[in-house]
Amino acid sequence: LRANFSVIQKETGFVNGLITVLHDITEQEKIDEERREFVANVSHELRTPLTTMRSYLEALADGAWKDESIAPSFLNVTQNETERMIRLVNDLLQLSKMDSKDYRLTKGWVNFTKFFNHIIDRFEMTITEHITFSRDIPSDSIFVDIDEDKITQVLYNIISNAIKYSPEGGQITFGVKQEIEEIVISISDQGVGIPKNNLNKVFERFYRVDKARARNLGGTGLGLAIAKEMVLAHEGEIWAESREGKGTTIFFTLPCEQEQEDEWS
Ligand code: ADP
Repeated sequence: LRANFSVIQKETGFVNGLITVLHDITEQEKIDEERREFVANVSHELRTPLTTMRSYLEALADGAWKDESIAPSFLNVTQNETERMIRLVNDLLQLSKMDSKDYRLTKGWVNFTKFFNHIIDRFEMTITEHITFSRDIPSDSIFVDIDEDKITQVLYNIISNAIKYSPEGGQITFGVKQEIEEIVISISDQGVGIPKNNLNKVFERFYRVDKARARNLGGTGLGLAIAKEMVLAHEGEIWAESREGKGTTIFFTLPCEQEQEDEWS
């Protein structure tokens, strides 16, 4: 809240009034501040790979291209940085689409247990790390009205993190629980964990617990922010529970109708 005071003074110097105007500027100021911070973050995130690429390209142009023992690895760095920028720009476009007023979900009825198992199968087939998967998913069908592409992305972002932050030989557990009006999906890992006071912050744009480490793992810092927007668009909730050094569980909910059979009785 900001107060503006105006003194009403006559030519004689005699003060005969005082006007106080109170504005609720906090909300607008917060939005402006967030926008400034976002632009600064985006610029920084793009500048880092660009300056790295510039120095490697300079070294190559200065003659490193002739040295077969270093040229391939220098080119590899520039390739990785390019990939990172593409991921970042794609994530930014995704967020900006969701920020626009006419953002719509394309919903349809999906058997969630089948859909979830299918996504886990895909990860299981391609994973190169020594990580085991364990599923705590009911065998019955649970139908939810969702935008399949968006929820695929939510799961993709959460599962990629679970893999990235898992130790060698770690286990990732996938859970689905049916509650009265929603299903609760959980993805647990046995990784580094997230400090307690950062648990909510990980869903903010560009927030990372350990910047250098997250960058090395190829993250953009937008994965969970995107997941959050998408879950909220489905009227679900998303949160994290974690114990440092022990592991992290990301939960999210999706509304579902309680008894599907009711429709037929
Ligand atoms: P990033 O691209 O950096 O992974 P995210 O938005 O996906 O960005 O995650 C934000 C931050 O949250 C990560 O940088 C990391 O610090 C933390 N984080 C996310 N998932 C996990 C996890 N499963 N275990 C530990 N830390 C995590």
